[in-house]
Amino acid sequence: MRLSSQTFTRFSPSSYPNMTSGSNSLMWFRKGLRIHDNPALEYAAKNSTHVYPLFVIDPHYMKPDPTAFSPGSNLAGLNRIRFLLESLVDLDSNLKKLGSRLLVLHGEPGEVLIRCLKEWDIKRLCFEYDTDPYYQALDAKVQSYALESGIEIFSPVSHTLFNPADIIQKNGGTPPMNCLSFSKIAGEPHWLSSSLSTTPSVIPPVGDVGNCEISEVPTVKQLGYDDIQEDEPPVFKGGESEALRRLRESTNDKKWVATFEKPNTDPSAFIKPSTTMLSPYLKFGCLSSRYFYQCIKEIEKEFKNHTSPPVSLLGQFFWRDFFYTVGFGTPNFDRMRGNKICRQIPWNNDDELLAAWRDSRTGFPWIDAIMVQLRKWGWIHHLARHSVACFLTRGDLFIHWEKGRDVFERLLVDSDWAINNGNWLWLSCSAFFYQYHRIYSPITFGKKYDPTGAYIRHFLPVLKDMPKEYIYEPWTAPLSVQTKANCIIGKDYPKPIISHEIASKECKRKMAEAYDLNKKQNGIVSDEDLQNLRTRVEDQSQATVPRRLKQKLI
Ligand code: FAD
Repeated sequence: MRLSSQTFTRFSPSSYPNMTSGSNSLMWFRKGLRIHDNPALEYAAKNSTHVYPLFVIDPHYMKPDPTAFSPGSNLAGLNRIRFLLESLVDLDSNLKKLGSRLLVLHGEPGEVLIRCLKEWDIKRLCFEYDTDPYYQALDAKVQSYALESGIEIFSPVSHTLFNPADIIQKNGGTPPMNCLSFSKIAGEPHWLSSSLSTTPSVIPPVGDVGNCEISEVPTVKQLGYDDIQEDEPPVFKGGESEALRRLRESTNDKKWVATFEKPNTDPSAFIKPSTTMLSPYLKFGCLSSRYFYQCIKEIEKEFKNHTSPPVSLLGQFFWRDFFYTVGFGTPNFDRMRGNKICRQIPWNNDDELLAAWRDSRTGFPWIDAIMVQLRKWGWIHHLARHSVACFLTRGDLFIHWEKGRDVFERLLVDSDWAINNGNWLWLSCSAFFYQYHRIYSPITFGKKYDPTGAYIRHFLPVLKDMPKEYIYEPWTAPLSVQTKANCIIGKDYPKPIISHEIASKECKRKMAEAYDLNKKQNGIVSDEDLQNLRTRVEDQSQATVPRRLKQKLI
């Protein structure tokens, strides 16, 4: 795809020497792990004698953390780390086909990069613009060094369809707060009619690497992870080649694309999932969201009655860009305190309940099966995410959305700062969506899609012989049935940790009180106000709930 990217940051004041052939460019890969539709790479390749494609492995992100609740580093689960390494291997192989290669270095990314800029006499630094707070801080540091040293910077927006800053500016300085107004303001992307062509034809070779210690892409074992015995092969294989293969597979069925309606997709489908499952590839930029969008647009042209945003496949990209824009324009978007779009709610701090949810021990098979899938696959369907996020927060356990966000952030292969935080804010009725009385039942919601419980039986084999009448509420099965199914509730599988009927009523009452307080105080709720509310709602719970909600956890 040839894109005349107009939304980019380019610092090349006229005082800089003109870039002539003979100069060295550094292409800094972070996300955007692809060679198709990569304007930063394309720019680096133009008029340079040497291009140094670099990826820095940050030990902080990659080093095993034996104290974490699942295999992985202290920031990322092993599924995501493996996916990233596979994506780097594929990137290296694709670069080699163009006469280049990926240079892998280890260390704190800012320091490593600055060292490389000096060592390789770089005149031009190219990298994809990134709105995540981590990269905003890192890029500010690197840019200030580069500018002082007379290095040209080219940093185009190509991870999203639109430039979040442009949307915010068009909306008068603040982000639009719903997807419909977002799409009206955004309109059609300016690059939409650009011609499709997927890769640059050649990349100038890598120059002398001097004293920098270049390594191959490490394996998970070389990073210090033991061989993990898996009962199923990983669901995702990282990399651009696989992303483009999966994109072709997803878009082969044009009718499916043109009639896609997200609310009608099935969260319990696991043999053939009901959505594209391309999110991990979009997260790491192995697949360009702009290229994906163009492909869908082409297909839609062939169908007069295709579906429309927000439910269509194209609409899913508006959701993605919407959360990127709000995340970029909202200080403290990833927390409740200090975040002015977030309702202040006196969530519980119950680590025992949190661990039961995280470790698939709630006693609600629908919830537990989803959490097993999340841990094993690193991916769950959107409505499955809804179910478990609602259950943890405003539906049943009343636990802080930030805690659930952290668990997702670690376990999801597609874990994405803006989208994950945005959706947790949504599901917990903290922002964007306010109908807190609409709660997903952990019993009946899944049953609508999967009455026989095939999904539960697959992910929770302990329940595989439970008759379908009891599969969503096994604690109601007579002991004789439990015995026959080889699953005694309270011994082989937990009793429910709460009564959904009582807990959901309690949650609604607490939400109503919190909403009242937020309204009365115009959203300015002090720590003290919040603590007083917490004490009051907890006192009322003790007085009104006849028995302790929590059962003994096994
Ligand atoms: P498809 O339905 O095939 O959609 C195509 C693409 O559109 C997705 O790959 C994704 O990039 C984008 N998209 C779809 N739905 C949404 C949405 N609601 N918001 C923003 N973008 C969307 N998605 C992530 O990519 N990373 C996350 O960390 C993440 N965390 C979430 C947390 C919660 C609590 C919830 C409810 C949703 C979260 N989502 C997240 C959004 C959504 O569930 C996933 O993007 C989607 O399920 C991925 O599957 P897919 O690729 O098959 O999606």
